[in-house]
Formats: sequence, C-alpha cells, structure tokens
Amino acid sequence: MLRRHPYPETYIMDDFLRKHAAEPGKCIQCGACQAVCPVYGETLDESRVARGRMALMEAVLQGDLLLSDRLNEILTSCIGCKACATSCPSGASADFVNLVGKLHLAGAKGLPFYQKLLSRQIFLNPQVMAASARLLDLLGRRLYTPLAELRLVHPFLPFIRDGKGRIVPRLDPGARRERAPSCLPEGAIRGRVALFLGCGVELLYPQSAEAAMETLTARGIEVIVPPEQACCGAPSLHMGDADTARKLVYRNLEALSDPDVDAVVTLCATCGYTLKELTPRLFGSESAAALSAKIHDLQAFLRECPVPVEQAATVPDGPPLRVTYHEPCHLGRGMGVKDASREMLQSLPGIEYVEMRDADRCCGGGGLFSLSHYDLALKIGRHKVERIRESDAQVVATACPACQLQLTDLLNRAQLAIPVVHVVELSREIPQLGMSEKDATGDG
Ligand code: SF4
Ligand code: SF4
Repeated sequence: MLRRHPYPETYIMDDFLRKHAAEPGKCIQCGACQAVCPVYGETLDESRVARGRMALMEAVLQGDLLLSDRLNEILTSCIGCKACATSCPSGASADFVNLVGKLHLAGAKGLPFYQKLLSRQIFLNPQVMAASARLLDLLGRRLYTPLAELRLVHPFLPFIRDGKGRIVPRLDPGARRERAPSCLPEGAIRGRVALFLGCGVELLYPQSAEAAMETLTARGIEVIVPPEQACCGAPSLHMGDADTARKLVYRNLEALSDPDVDAVVTLCATCGYTLKELTPRLFGSESAAALSAKIHDLQAFLRECPVPVEQAATVPDGPPLRVTYHEPCHLGRGMGVKDASREMLQSLPGIEYVEMRDADRCCGGGGLFSLSHYDLALKIGRHKVERIRESDAQVVATACPACQLQLTDLLNRAQLAIPVVHVVELSREIPQLGMSEKDATGDG
C-alpha cells in the first residue's frame, strides 16, 4: 500500500530548506573546489562552482535572492558528481545543497509540463514506462535528430537542443522483471538476493541484468527480481519533484523489504547511491535506514562471494582483451566503492586490465544533466575520450547505465570503435563486443 505524505508541497519544500540550512554556512570559501569541478572547468563561471552555489543558496536562505529562471539554470547545471564534496576541507557537500535548492525552487515555482509528464506519469508508473517504451523507442530514434535541427521546437523540447548526431539507444519494451522474476542456482543455495534493476538497466541494457543473474547464480546465490520495484527516484529528485521521489521511496520500501533476502543488489551506481545514501538523508525513516543497510553494489557484493573452485573459468585462446575502467561518480564517491570493479576485471581470465588516467573523473553524463545540458556534457566528456584513447583499450567497462550511454555517444562522436559494457558482462564470458544495432543506433 502506497503511503501518501500529509503535507502540501510548499510545506515539504520549506522543511527541506530548514533541515539543511546549516550546510551552505560550512563553506570557508577556500576555492579548492575550483580545481575539481568539471562544470567550472568548462565554464569558468564562479556561480557554477561549489563555492558559488553555496553562496547563492545562503542568499536564498537569507531572503536576499529571488527564485529566478537564471537561478534555475545555474542549479540544473550541476552534474552532482560529488568531486567538490570529496575534496572540500570543511566537509561541505555542495552537490547536496544544490539538490535541496532544486527541490526548493521547483516546489515554489512548479515543474515545466514535460518534466511533470516524465516524473509523475512515466517514472512513477513502471507499467506506463514499459508500455510507452516501444513508442518512445520509435519516436526517439526516428525523430530525435530531425527535431534537434528545428530551432522552433527547442523552447518546448529543451532536451533535444544541440542533439544532432547523438546516439539514441534502443529501448527494450519487455520488462525484465516480468520475463524472469527469479533464478535459482543449480547446486547448493548459499544466499538469496533481490536484484534492483533501475530504469536504465531494465530498458536500455537488459543484457547487464542477464549477466548479473548468471554470475550470481554461478556463485550459489538465488536471485529474485521483485516485480513491484519502481524507479529509484533519482530523475524525479533531480527535476526537483520531491513529492514523486517520496512516493517512489515508499513504493521501493514495500517492494524491497523482504526479510528473507540477504541483500538488495544494484547494477546502477546512481540507483545504488540514491537508495543507499540520498533518499534516507532526504526522507529519513527507520525503514529507509534498514533498506539502506541492505543495498549493495553488484561488484562489491560479488567480491564477498567467490566462484566455487570447480567452476573457475578457463583462459580463452588468443591474446588478452585490453580493458579499461571508467569509475562512475556515484559508485566511487557516492557509495565509496572504489576497488571492487577493478579487482573483478583484474581477476578475469583473458583480460589485460589497464587503468586509464583520471578514471574517476566525471564523464559528463549525469542522467538528466546530459539531456538538459548536452553541449556541456560533450565538452566535459572530451577529456574522458582522450584518457580512453591514450589507454589504448579495446573495451571500456563501467558500472552505471547512464555512464555507459554517455561514453558510447562520446566514443561514437570521436569515431573510436571501442565498445562500452557493464563490468559484469565481462565476468560472464568474453562477449561479442562489436558495436551492434541492438546496443545503439546513431542518427548522425
Ligand atoms: S572546497 Fe568547500 S569550503 Fe572550499 S570553497 Fe569549495 S565548497 Fe567552500
Ligand atoms: S557536484 Fe560536481 S558539478 Fe556539481 S558543483 Fe560539485 S564538482 Fe561541480
């Protein structure tokens, strides 16, 4: 049963603001965040670095700054990469303050029509999302580039601005959770986990879920895919829609709180970070904290469950595949999982692991950020392309579907035929890794 909060939206907005009012005041204006902020690195705009964002929110709190369109533009230009928070000497978390600012502003001014549609109809309702996937798939791939060239429609569809030539991925209209709601290991059962798919894996990269289920069951873990699970709430939160995000939290609490599962495993860094860290901090409750404790990143969980010796994979013939790793911001800095993916890649037969420089630097994806600020996402991503190029890798592995999407687009634009896969896909077997029609369709 879905619980509804009893307060009008404006009360919740003020509640967030009061609750975190001390955070902007932690900034000592040292400027250390300038060196690490990818947005500041491209814009050199002081209002877009952590220090500037803190000052703006302090001004809002003091009543010295109006909630303007300009402020909205600045707030939406933060990727939420957390690079500022991890390098801040006073422990301030500007990404969180920026998010609270977005919730505050959207609560006061309302959401644009297309965001209401996305957040309250599509992300809130998994059935609507699955049903509309086929239509969105068709419209997305056929119409994205033609519309991106039509300036007249940009005010109504801002997410296609600058989008000419973008890779628009195929959407899988079949909901993974309904096709195979559970998977049993062949031998003795060593544990039981719930797999949290997230929208990106379910609709864009279902092969990652297949690989995760195979890899877990090979280690003797029973996997269930709770059918009632919904979006983690990250897209709604980053649009500023606290009401929908709160509903999704309650829905996932219901869906994932089975006492008989040892862990809830995520394949998406952003979903994991949102469920484990972000929503408990925003909407904290005892049950949210209990769920948070059960959330594990897939690679970190697999590290604790080694493959039985008798199933150890054989080394494939031929030269090893040269693989590098892009560390998703929400996995490394968000969930504190730094080594698990690298260790897994280094342990796989047939793979030569090579660490790229600045592997933890943001790729510019940021989910909705790359829709609303595609031009900036491409500028930030150019640095990542150069690091991948100099690594001389044949494959890029990562652990977040949003990064996978962004890196695929970046490499395609740079005319580098380097596939991007989820780490777990490589643990299954060395797959067919050419850029396929199934993975993505470029319109340019
Ligand atoms: S690093 Fe932290 S304390 Fe220093 S200016 Fe940036 S937000 Fe403020
Ligand atoms: S979260 Fe990232 S993009 Fe946002 S202010 Fe901090 S460093 Fe910059």
